[in-house]
Amino acid sequence: MRIANNAGRLVLIDGENLLDVERASGGTFQTDPMAVFSRWAEFSAWAATVDIVNHAEAFALAGANLDAPSPRPRQVFGIGLNYADHAAESGLPLPEKPVVFTKFSSSVAGPDVEVPLPGDTVDWEAELVVVIATGGRHIPVDEAPSHIAGYTVGQDLSERTVQWQDQPPQFSIGKSFENFAPTGPSIVTLDELPHADALAISATIVTIDGEELVMQNGNTDQLVFSVDELISRLSDAVELLPGDLIFTGTPPGVGAGRDPKRFLVAGERLVTEIEGIGKITQHFVNRLA
Ligand code: ZN
Repeated sequence: MRIANNAGRLVLIDGENLLDVERASGGTFQTDPMAVFSRWAEFSAWAATVDIVNHAEAFALAGANLDAPSPRPRQVFGIGLNYADHAAESGLPLPEKPVVFTKFSSSVAGPDVEVPLPGDTVDWEAELVVVIATGGRHIPVDEAPSHIAGYTVGQDLSERTVQWQDQPPQFSIGKSFENFAPTGPSIVTLDELPHADALAISATIVTIDGEELVMQNGNTDQLVFSVDELISRLSDAVELLPGDLIFTGTPPGVGAGRDPKRFLVAGERLVTEIEGIGKITQHFVNRLA
């Protein structure tokens, strides 16, 4: 199953077909995409019975205006250095426990947005994002899957100068500018994607001249801490809440790790894709003075 947020309304997606959940369920489920996560078991059971393609009220994806599938999460976690090949490239040892920071939730954006550039060192990080359904504390690793709504594509955009400017460094502000946490296009649930541990993940810059530069081309089989481990370890410290997002880390090829370094400029597009989930695009523009 796939769910998405079409202009503020929760929808089911099957191929090129969308179905409005509130209408199709006769009001059993709300329009607000955030409301579904705390009723996940009930919602999943209902959704499994719906024939989207042949439903009288199904409509075309082409006319949709998709926004972030979890648009107002209360918590957005970022995990640093979570790909073995990225750690090797950085010359850093594998972390013994997850390196965790926050992206403030007002930076969450949809799958196709403009991003004002707050500086000249804005960098990309293609990431698999986990969306939490049922929350909790002290979740055992083997019970983690029952807390997952599904997976979506994310970009952990980062203004590197701001990210590192404090002593000691505090990542959160440099990773929380407007639209710095784009996500989407939909949430793919575990019945369709039970394991996210071997998915191709890439980030491609489309230059002003239309040239396509593949910057990251990795695979989630390089994750140091699996999705289930991240959920377990995070929940040992923090109560996970319905709709929370976990950005699970990025593969090699970020701009700051290149020689010479390469950052995003106005007029460029960034396309991030994960096998079996989909792709998201950002359009970079100059920030108004
Ligand atoms: Zn990241």
